[in-house]
Amino acid sequence: MTSIAENIASLRQCIRGFELKYDRPEGAVKLLAVSKRHNPENIRQAAEAGIKDFGENYLQEANQKMALLADLELCWHFIGPIQANKTRGIAEHFDWVHSVDREKIAQRLNDQRPDQCPPLNVCAQVNQSAEASKSGTDFENIEALCNTIEALPRLRLRGLMTIPAPLSDLQSQRDCFRQLTVVYRELRQRWPSMDTLSMGMSNDLEAAIAEGSTLVRLGTAIFGPRP
Ligand SMILES: *Cc1c(COP(=O)(O)O)cnc(C)c1O
Repeated sequence: MTSIAENIASLRQCIRGFELKYDRPEGAVKLLAVSKRHNPENIRQAAEAGIKDFGENYLQEANQKMALLADLELCWHFIGPIQANKTRGIAEHFDWVHSVDREKIAQRLNDQRPDQCPPLNVCAQVNQSAEASKSGTDFENIEALCNTIEALPRLRLRGLMTIPAPLSDLQSQRDCFRQLTVVYRELRQRWPSMDTLSMGMSNDLEAAIAEGSTLVRLGTAIFGPRP
């Protein structure tokens, strides 16, 4: 077994362990392999170990990998900050976008999504720490942003995504994630098609799964440090 396959096997066990510990159904939490700055050969190894979903942050880099890995049926998620001049490439090549944080970006992705592709799956990114430098919409504007996404025919509203400020203890991490889970549950009453809560990275995996995450984003724990 390669070390990438070993890492994936142990992460799967770890996720399963937290699902059991926190009364989540088996398979409730999906593993997204964050492959930014890792080479196509490593992605191929992860795909051979059964991973289908990969997260990328840089459009050009992702496009090169997609071309080299076109023989595999992978699902590509854009998870990085989005500049307006990158929306066309994202709309044309990705299956999911987790980092939609303003209406203008949602509108552009909708307008640029090719007709022959299915609607683009979208999560609204929420900024929980209210730091001006971080991307994400604040709590007051989440509903309006979701409303915009929902009304756009070439987008499909799937859920919410967050990258919380780093906190070291489990309880404060849980408190932070819970704020988002509460909002997510409220929004789902209005839009039952929402099924994705993209939260949890290596240092807050347990807290995220405890609080209802449906998708965790892991890079270094799968592929090792980025070159
Ligand atoms: C890079 C990245 C990750 C993964 O980070 P690692 O520390 O490598 O696990 C997860 N989510 C987002 C949005 C990222 O940009």
